[in-house]
Amino acid sequence: MSKQQRALVIGGSLGGLFAANLLHAIGWHVDVYERVADDLATRGAGIGTHDELFSILRRLGIAVDTSIGVEVRERVCLDRDGSTLLEVALPQMMTAWARIYRPLKDLLPASQYHFGMNLERVEEDADGITAVFSDGTTARGDLVIAADGIRSSVRAQMLPEAEPRYAGYIAWRGVVDESAVSRSTHAAIFERYAFGLPVGEMMLVYPVPGRDNDVRPGKRSSNFVWYRPCDFATKLPRLATDASGHCHGVAIPPPLITCEVVAEMRAEAKALLAPQIYEIVERAPQPFFQAIFDLESPRMAVGRVALLGDAAFVARPHVGMGVTKAALDAQSLAQCIADAPGDLFAALARYDRERRLFGTRVVARSRRLGAYIEAQLKPPESRTAEECDQRPEVVLREIGAKLANIEELTAPAAA
Ligand SMILES: Cc1cc2nc3c(=O)[nH]c(=O)nc-3n(C[C@H](O)[C@H](O)[C@H](O)COP(=O)(O)OP(=O)(O)OC[C@H]3O[C@@H](n4cnc5c(N)ncnc54)[C@H](O)[C@@H]3O)c2cc1C
Repeated sequence: MSKQQRALVIGGSLGGLFAANLLHAIGWHVDVYERVADDLATRGAGIGTHDELFSILRRLGIAVDTSIGVEVRERVCLDRDGSTLLEVALPQMMTAWARIYRPLKDLLPASQYHFGMNLERVEEDADGITAVFSDGTTARGDLVIAADGIRSSVRAQMLPEAEPRYAGYIAWRGVVDESAVSRSTHAAIFERYAFGLPVGEMMLVYPVPGRDNDVRPGKRSSNFVWYRPCDFATKLPRLATDASGHCHGVAIPPPLITCEVVAEMRAEAKALLAPQIYEIVERAPQPFFQAIFDLESPRMAVGRVALLGDAAFVARPHVGMGVTKAALDAQSLAQCIADAPGDLFAALARYDRERRLFGTRVVARSRRLGAYIEAQLKPPESRTAEECDQRPEVVLREIGAKLANIEELTAPAAA
């Protein structure tokens, strides 16, 4: 009998958990090493979903029923005065990051998930690969799966030329309990996917599961994501500076964002957005922001290392594809390995070809959808036609469209 193959998965978020469970299902021994010391279930906010994500969950034996999320049936774009500019019937299931994380984490034997393990480097030789952690411990395997996100330590070692690129804007985000939403705002937008499109910006509001992933009416939440241009050298450092004057680079922990910065954001929301949308911003107890980056890796496999999810490609969130892409990467990796028994390098070469093409395409699409926001930092006369196109009918249909309907992502590769 051949010896059981062993994968070391670096990063225990959604990408790492999909990979670990799918490799476990084809008979590999897997260990997941996560830098953070505690359960990650308190992380994250709302996410859009795709049918492909659900079919991978089902394949793993995870139930996908009405408790998986909150369905929106239509999209509505509201003008600044609260009137309706456009309505489009377009169903989509919205869920919460933790609602996907929990069953994936529970599926993996607890002894194979290691918290508080920060990967320092990998060392490869002819017979295998060793992961070296900051606490001095090591682990030995046949394959390292780099699922360690946009700032991947593994990618920094293997492909140092691949670096995240700032998109020129940030996303303010926040979540409000359904019970805190006024009756009139609830009737107008709560169960819909609402858009606000101030010039050069994009605001989305949609329902998501509430505390403890509750999807019962009255227990759900409303989630907003507001994309706003933000100069990297001047404005971003100001937003990321806490009350003691310390600047946290591009990512300040939400509780440290100053009251002045939040008040300024809320005042601008009041001036620019429909009153129903503003109410969600005003009532979100802890708004936070994320700088938007995109990333393209030149390869997804190097030696015995496979890059996966955000460690390999990061598309701006307009495509709502981060989780689905990570799941599809993991599914492809497991399939390529299962199809090439005894030839890991052939499996990785096929994985690289298939998923690199998808990653490149999805990043290109997300750049196109965010082009008009990015262009706000350029002089108006130098903007292209695409960079000026903010038509609601285009934005409402393209943001978070069904994957199967997006030809630029699904078309066969050119011969
Ligand atoms: C504003 C915004 C909105 C988004 N909306 C959506 C959406 O609607 N739909 C969607 O699908 N996606 C969305 N995403 C993207 C989504 O969050 C990610 O793409 C997705 O979670 C896949 O991530 P991952 O598992 O590859 O990496 P991550 O979730 O970044 O996880 C990487 C993990 O690796 C760990 N790690 C890092 N370094 C080390 C190390 N050295 N050693 C050990 N562990 C390490 C980290 O602690 C982390 O847990 C959004 C993102 C943003 C910013």
